Amino acid sequence: MDRFPNQVEIERSALMHNLKQIRSVLDPETAVTAVVKADAYGHGMVPAAKALAEAGADRLAVAHLAEGLRLRKAGVGCPIVVLCGILTRSEAGAVVEHGLIPVLPEPGPAELLDEEARRRGRRVPVQLKIDTGMGRLGAPSDGTGGFVRRVMDCRGLEPEGLLSHLSSADEPDRTFTEGQIRRFQAALETARGQGMDTRASSLANSAGTLEYPEARLGMVRPGILLYGGSPSPDLTPCIDLKPAMTLRARVLQVRDIPPGSPVSYGRTYTTSGPERIAVLSAGYSDGLPRTLSNRGQVLIHGERVPIRGRICMNLTMADVTAVPGVRPGDEAVFLGRQGRRVLSGDDVAGACGTISYEIYCALGQCGKKTILS
Ligand SMILES: *Cc1c(COP(=O)(O)O)cnc(C)c1O
Repeated sequence: MDRFPNQVEIERSALMHNLKQIRSVLDPETAVTAVVKADAYGHGMVPAAKALAEAGADRLAVAHLAEGLRLRKAGVGCPIVVLCGILTRSEAGAVVEHGLIPVLPEPGPAELLDEEARRRGRRVPVQLKIDTGMGRLGAPSDGTGGFVRRVMDCRGLEPEGLLSHLSSADEPDRTFTEGQIRRFQAALETARGQGMDTRASSLANSAGTLEYPEARLGMVRPGILLYGGSPSPDLTPCIDLKPAMTLRARVLQVRDIPPGSPVSYGRTYTTSGPERIAVLSAGYSDGLPRTLSNRGQVLIHGERVPIRGRICMNLTMADVTAVPGVRPGDEAVFLGRQGRRVLSGDDVAGACGTISYEIYCALGQCGKKTILS
């Protein structure tokens, strides 16, 4: 079978290794909810979920109901949390039928789900989303008491925990995050005061898990660390992570170009001296941000070389003047390791002004993934 010339390769073993590394900083009884939303940050949701469940993830978290249903259809049996909850009666029905755990940001969807659960004679575990400062989904933390009471009144529901999200745990200044942790602890007290079981509560994303032991509580929800990424270039993880994603392409042609020659659309780059330009087989249709034009780098023969001119739909030019012996058919790596050198998600993201999360999602969306063991 012909392999597509540009391959996003995912190493299953790296995901499993990263989960073990995260576990190494946790108390043995702390549960891990592995976040596999957005196609596992582009790494392929079903194979990633299976690898992480096999490596001992206690739960999985997805953003949307449809992702949870896809995992169930693929035979994934472990508890699945639906972070963005549900809105409609049919979504509520699907949650009950497939045994998913929705995160509810307000009482309305809770009462809808309650009706669907009781109609089927079931009790459904739910999580209550509390906003402690993220300013996104959830009930304000000072309204926790009323929210918990409304949900506790639903006989078809089994509230099992509060869930909140940290907005700034990757920043050097700890003040805001410490405030979020305090507000979450107060919300937990309130919920327990109402007689709610809060054992499955969680607050810590990847940055919170590494940087704030007091945010780990009984359960953590790491995402980016599982894929070998860092939550931010400002935060160097204290554990040994293996990046799981590599994007490889090929050199299609090597050209010796005279001084003063334009390269690619719009002539945004002109050679200053005689230059050797390699034409590479990947472009923005492979998920490379076009903003890497004239900014990014690629690895060829184990060396970092600069991208020249605009990235095209299927092609990118790189300056290999300093690298002897480059030939058509040679491998170019846009993300990942080649020989001794690595281009990390943060390297690529930093060159084009975004975060590694977006790079992983974009490369993973192109659908030419190979899963390696
Ligand atoms: C995405 C997400 C996470 C994981 O975040 P990372 O920074 O990748 O660790 C955890 N919790 C919620 C609610 C999320 O949306």
